[in-house]
Amino acid sequence: MDVLDAAGHPVGRGYYNPRPGIACRLLTGPGEVVDAALIRRRLAAALEYRRGAGLVPGDDGAYRLCWSEADGLPGLVVDRYGRVLVMQCLTLGMARLADAVVEALGALFEGQRVYRLDDPGAARVEGFEPRRGWVPAGDDSPVTVRVTEGDCALMVRLGAGHKTGLYLDQRENHRLVAAHAPGRRVLDAFAYTGAFACHALRVGAREALLIESSADAVEGARENLAANEVAARATIREANAFDELRALAAGHERFGLVVLDPPPFTRRKDALDAAARGYKEINLRGLRLLEPGGILATFSCSHHVTPELFESVCRAAAGDAGLTVRVLATLGQSRDHPVLLAVPETRYLTGLLLQRV
Ligand code: SAH
Repeated sequence: MDVLDAAGHPVGRGYYNPRPGIACRLLTGPGEVVDAALIRRRLAAALEYRRGAGLVPGDDGAYRLCWSEADGLPGLVVDRYGRVLVMQCLTLGMARLADAVVEALGALFEGQRVYRLDDPGAARVEGFEPRRGWVPAGDDSPVTVRVTEGDCALMVRLGAGHKTGLYLDQRENHRLVAAHAPGRRVLDAFAYTGAFACHALRVGAREALLIESSADAVEGARENLAANEVAARATIREANAFDELRALAAGHERFGLVVLDPPPFTRRKDALDAAARGYKEINLRGLRLLEPGGILATFSCSHHVTPELFESVCRAAAGDAGLTVRVLATLGQSRDHPVLLAVPETRYLTGLLLQRV
């Protein structure tokens, strides 16, 4: 449909779906046509930005090629895992454009395979049949792809796990945080498949404790620790991190580096107060586990929690812990998940690198 402003001037073209909260998503500016060439242009521009910013790793690397609104293709995520492109449709409008997307990916990345992994939750809200499997259809037996991220190997089981396989939004932070790990005892809480711990151990952390509640993720973490030949220095606890953090503090355990990377505590604005209390609680517990000079890397991926709110929550936690804390860096999502100034929703991951003085 054409979108006009209040004065009747054209704004652009978008696709319309009355079912979800967002009824129209803009694909073009005024005068642009929605066709296969548009999809090709958008994906080529997404690749060009990432190449220019040094975000495209070698053939066995992983990165986000396309991130929905932020790359001018609302409802489309494309992540590259080595020689496989994982494509995810999040809206009915994008599901209907899927063939053009596959064609454009084929032209941009010759010889790479496309795996479609639609989000079932989004499909229910939008009203389309989510697809999962190779495009064109192929052997659907489970496939594991081994990718490298800096100095680390990470295994990705296609079609299983969270997101499209890895938390690529933490790709740059994995290395940034690990730079503080050498010689230290590390706690990786909410570890998923252990990317932070693997990076930390690879660069010389003394030992690492991983806490993760999902059995599948724990299995993946075990595989990753083994693939990086660091399993001997790691312990994994399949447990609730909230309880474990409390138990570790009660046992007067100390760490030189603590990573807190929990799932979003809220997706709704009206639950912001409860989320803020949750963040304060885990950060208080995390700070109490730090040895003097120790470092806390702490994150929120709730997009209603702004960097300002997150910082004030951490300030309150440090106050309650009675600690003086230095801000070493403010952190955000990897730059292959770009933020559009005019679309504040594109910024969702915020973090702080803090040091107990
Ligand atoms: N740091 C990871 C991503 C973590 S995502 C990385 O960089 O790859 C958050 C993780 O927390 C998920 O794997 C989820 O299964 C786990 N999780 C959710 N609730 C939890 C809880 N109460 N205790 C422990 N882990 C939890």
